[in-house]
Amino acid sequence: MKKVQVPAGRPLGRIVCPHCGNDREFVEVARNVIVTTTYIQNDDGSFTPEHGDSDVHGNVGLFCGRCDADLTTFYNHLMEMIF
Ligand SMILES: [Zn+2]
Repeated sequence: MKKVQVPAGRPLGRIVCPHCGNDREFVEVARNVIVTTTYIQNDDGSFTPEHGDSDVHGNVGLFCGRCDADLTTFYNHLMEMIF
């Protein structure tokens, strides 16, 4: 019996969860995120946030929004399809 393989990160067309068939909701989980915010202290002692920055240093995973199946193999596809 021949097994059909989906190339990693390149599903044809839309991403569909192989477990529950969900094709609408997906959850991205980023680990080890460093959030940097610059504050300017004003003359009256108050602070104004200047700009924020977030750096992802860990792995980023993609999960089904319905059944939590690990769909990280499709993550690159999601990144390419964000407009
Ligand atoms: Zn699912």
